[in-house]
Amino acid sequence: MITIQLSERQEKIIDIVKENQPITSEKIAKKLKLTRATLRPDLAILTMSGILDARPKVGYIYTGKSIFNVISEKIKNIKVGDRKSVPVIVDENTSIYDSIVTMFLEDTGTIFVTSEGYLSGVVSRKDFLKSAIGGMDLDRTPVAVIMTRMPNIIVTYPEESILDAARKLIEHEIDSLPVVKEEILDKGNKGYKLVGRITKTTITRVFVELGNNE
Ligand code: ADP
Repeated sequence: MITIQLSERQEKIIDIVKENQPITSEKIAKKLKLTRATLRPDLAILTMSGILDARPKVGYIYTGKSIFNVISEKIKNIKVGDRKSVPVIVDENTSIYDSIVTMFLEDTGTIFVTSEGYLSGVVSRKDFLKSAIGGMDLDRTPVAVIMTRMPNIIVTYPEESILDAARKLIEHEIDSLPVVKEEILDKGNKGYKLVGRITKTTITRVFVELGNNE
C-alpha cells in the first residue's frame, strides 16, 4: 500500500480540527502549546493539499478529504487539451520508407496517418518492423497498407480527463492516442481532425509534476 507521510504534528492538527471545528489557528496553537508562527507552515500544507479549509473569520474546517481524494481530484481535473503535444502526421500515400525516416527525424514512436486531412490510421514501431522482416518493398508500398486503420483507432478528446486517457493507454496496451475533434461529414459520416497527441511520456510528466508537488 502507498502511504503518504504527514508529520506527527500535522496529524495532531487534523485531529484537533476534527474535534473542535471551526477552530482558529490561535486556539490550535494553544492546544499544542506552540506559537501561531510555528504552526503556519503546517497549516499552509494542510490547506493547500485540501485536507483543511481555512474560512476567513471562522477558522479551520476539516474537509473530510484524504490526501488520496485530493490527488485523485487533481488528476481528474487535468484535461487532455491542457497537456496534449504536437502530433507527427504523414499522408496515407507516403511510402513506408519515408514514414520510417519521419519517425527517426521526429524522434517519435507512433505516427498518425491522414487522408484528405482526416485521421485514417496509426503506425508504430512494431508495424514498421513487421513490414521490414516481411520483406515488403518499403520504397513503393504506401504506409496505408501496414497501418492500424479506422474504425479501430482509440482516440481521446481535448475535454477528456488525463486519467481517462491514461486508462485507454493501459487497457488497449498502446503507447499513444490521437487527440481529435469530431466533424460531421456528408451523409452523416464522422471525420476526426487531429489536434494533438497524448503519449506515455505525457502521463509520466504529469506523474512527476504531482510527485514534485508542482
Ligand atoms: P510499439 O509498436 O512501439 O509497441 P504500440 O504498442 O503503441 O507501439 O503499438 C502496438 C500496435 O497498436 C500497433 O499495431 C499499432 O498500429 C497499434 N496502435 C498504436 N496506437 C493505437 C491507437 N491509438 N489505436 C489503435 N491502435 C493503435
